[in-house]
Amino acid sequence: MKAVLFEKFQEAPKVVTVADPTPEPHGVVLKVEATGVCRSDWHGWMGHDSDIDLPHIPGHELAGVVEAVGKDVKNWKVGDRVTVPFICGCGSCSECHAGHQQVCLHQEQPGFTHWGSFAEYVPIHQADLNVVALPETMDFATAASLGCRFATSFRAVIDQGKVSAGQWVAVHGCGGVGLSAVMIASAAGANVIGVDLDPAKLALAKDLGAVAAIDGTGDVVEAIKEITKGGAHVSLDALGHPATMTNSILCLRPRGKHIQVGLMLGDHAAPAVPMPKIVGQEIELLGSHGMQAHRYGAMLDMVESGKLNPARLVGDKIGIDAAPEALMNMDKFQSVGATVITSF
Ligand SMILES: [Zn+2]
Ligand SMILES: [Zn+2]
Repeated sequence: MKAVLFEKFQEAPKVVTVADPTPEPHGVVLKVEATGVCRSDWHGWMGHDSDIDLPHIPGHELAGVVEAVGKDVKNWKVGDRVTVPFICGCGSCSECHAGHQQVCLHQEQPGFTHWGSFAEYVPIHQADLNVVALPETMDFATAASLGCRFATSFRAVIDQGKVSAGQWVAVHGCGGVGLSAVMIASAAGANVIGVDLDPAKLALAKDLGAVAAIDGTGDVVEAIKEITKGGAHVSLDALGHPATMTNSILCLRPRGKHIQVGLMLGDHAAPAVPMPKIVGQEIELLGSHGMQAHRYGAMLDMVESGKLNPARLVGDKIGIDAAPEALMNMDKFQSVGATVITSF
C-alpha cells in the first residue's frame, strides 16, 4: 500500500510503498477514505510522543470502509462505512469496564502506538469495542474530522464541562478544536466567547454561534470579565499553550471550570499554573482527551438532526502526495478548518 512514512523525527516524511496490514483476530483493517492532518501528528513527528517507534506512519483522524475482518469480530463486515475514536480501548482494563475507554490503561492509538491512517489501509484493534458506524448521509471527509478534534470538543463541552443553557463559555484558540467547541457549546444553549489572534478564525467563530469574538493580543481576561459581568462559567484552552491556559483559568468566575483540551507537550509540558485563584475561588481543573466510541451516538444524532454541522470545519482536501508538507507545516496555524487527505 501507499503510505506517508518517516524514519527519523523532524526529517521530511516520504510517500512510500509498504506491505498491506492484516487484521488481528479481534481487529479489522479499514480502507482509508479520508484522514485529517492534526497538530498531534505534528507533535508525533517532532518526537514529542514517547509511544512512537520508528519508522512510523502518522494519522489518527480517519474514516473508511471495512476491508478485512478478524475471526473473533462479531459486529462488523466487509463494506461497512465506519470511523473510530483516536483512542481505542483494550476492552480488558478497569477503565474500559467502567466505560471510560478514552483513558484506557492499555490504549491503542492509530498513528501513535501503531501505524496510522496516512495510508491506503489501517489496522484497528478491538473492533467490536472501538469501531463506530457512520450515518448514511455523512461523507468521509466530515466523518474523519469527527474522530479527534470534534469528538474531543464534544466530550470537553458536554461530558466534562457539563455546559448548560445560559452559561458563559470562553474558548481560547479557534483552530479545529476551538471552533468545534464554539459550535457544540452554542448548540447546548451557552453564550460563547471565542478568542484568537487570527481575524478570519474570529469571524468564523461568530458565524458558528459565538456571541462575541476577542482579539487575543489584548487584555483577554478583562474583556471576558466585562462581557460576562464577572467571568465565564466554563473556559477551554483549545490550543495548548501557557498563555491561553493562564487566560482560560483567570477569566473564570468563582467555582468556574477550566478544561484543558489542547495538548501541552515539549517545552510546555509543565506550565506555571495560577494556583491562588484555583484555591481561593474553588476553580475546577479538568482534562479532556478524546471520546469513547459508545458516546459517539449522542454526537452523531446531533449531526444528523442538523444541530451540529462539522462539515463546516473541513478546510482543504488534499492528496496523499501533499501530506508530508501539510504535516510539517501544522505548527504554523495558517489554515482555517481542518486539512483532510481524501485521495490516496
Ligand atoms: Zn487529531
Ligand atoms: Zn482498557
